[in-house]
Amino acid sequence: MGELFCFPLKQHIGAKAAPAIVKGDTIVRGQPVAYKGQNDLGANVYSSVSGIVTEVTDEAIYVLADDEQKSDYRKLKADTPLALIEESGLVGLGGAGFPTYAKLNRPFEKDGVVIVNAAECEPILEHNIRAIEQKPEQLVRGLEIAMEVVRAGRGIIAIKEIHEKAVAAINKVLAARNGREITVHLLKDMYPMGEERAVIRECLGTLLGVESLPSEAGAIVINAETTCRIQEAVDLKKPLIDKNMTVAGKLKDDRKQIQVFYDVPLGISVGSMLKRAGGLADDYGELIMGGPFTGKRTSPDAPVIKTTGGIIAAECFPKGPQKIGLLVCACGADQKRLEEIAESLGSEVTGCEFCKQAHPVKAALKCENPGKCPGQVQKVMALKKAGAEAILISNCTDCSNTVMSCAPGLGLPVYHCTDGALRAVNQRIIRKIR
Ligand code: SF4
Repeated sequence: MGELFCFPLKQHIGAKAAPAIVKGDTIVRGQPVAYKGQNDLGANVYSSVSGIVTEVTDEAIYVLADDEQKSDYRKLKADTPLALIEESGLVGLGGAGFPTYAKLNRPFEKDGVVIVNAAECEPILEHNIRAIEQKPEQLVRGLEIAMEVVRAGRGIIAIKEIHEKAVAAINKVLAARNGREITVHLLKDMYPMGEERAVIRECLGTLLGVESLPSEAGAIVINAETTCRIQEAVDLKKPLIDKNMTVAGKLKDDRKQIQVFYDVPLGISVGSMLKRAGGLADDYGELIMGGPFTGKRTSPDAPVIKTTGGIIAAECFPKGPQKIGLLVCACGADQKRLEEIAESLGSEVTGCEFCKQAHPVKAALKCENPGKCPGQVQKVMALKKAGAEAILISNCTDCSNTVMSCAPGLGLPVYHCTDGALRAVNQRIIRKIR
């Protein structure tokens, strides 16, 4: 029997899409199953498989996939690049989920720059860099389209200097082309170099305020995979139905702890992706959807959605201290996620502090100057005063380094939100900067 696929109506920032099909309908891959409202900020949703609609709820559409699937798809109908991007349902695939057409629908009036965010900042995730190594021309073409749409005079591809092979592949494509200026900007290997305002700061030398938009710096920032999918929407008239992703951690085959999958059909379950990766190991701590810093706990039944970049089976939780204090970063795990980890450690939370650069903006926190530590001693001392015997932190690389310079000296062992994921793939944990 075919596999059940789930397409949530809201996989993006903005309004929920409205179902365009009913239970019992036979549909094909690439067929729209839900439309965004004409004047809403939102995104269309497409079926990534051919099959039969088994259920339509207020939240999602379920499709029982035919046993045999083809790779072709129903093509988009629009006839201009921006309209194709809007019709395709494309959103920020790096995790933000902001509808891409809404980023591109206001052309620059004077000099503007489109920046491709290819930082792939979260540890463990590799799918963006591997895709660039294989198809650098797709990334460059996607950037050219975006630049044309917003009439940008130049483009920048921001990528970490450690990814030498991907950088060389991009430079080879750039050397063979003419047209508007596109350059590569090399980023340091630190977290969170991929935060939107950090990318702008590094590339343009402008530090935007926490409530500012990239347009205030004359910039638009687009994630690397999103840029590649722009090429597909415009040149191939392909709706957003497939996603690249990394599956990693405590897998049965411990020689393949990090695996990259290309063009995974959206709506597939987390459990199916783990099976494709050879299956879960007998013991693991938790399943994370996303990266180790900002990912959320998930389950085998959850669907892969537009913003899913990774599925990580983390190491088993050690027995934590009786009392633990939390230190929250704007660019890492939030308070709720740290509380969840503390509970899994078997620890009682005795206090919660926030990095002083973390400011509430709408429902989230934003960092004043991402990745540049403002000092953490006061916060660590406050947690000790509140009764903590250890601290659990979600800080960036630079701030974790600062915490390590004071917490152990105060008798407080340090746990980091990324520990379980990094230990599961035998990578160095976030502590002191080397
Ligand atoms: S400075 Fe503070 S809020 Fe900003 S990234 Fe580092 S820990 Fe997070």
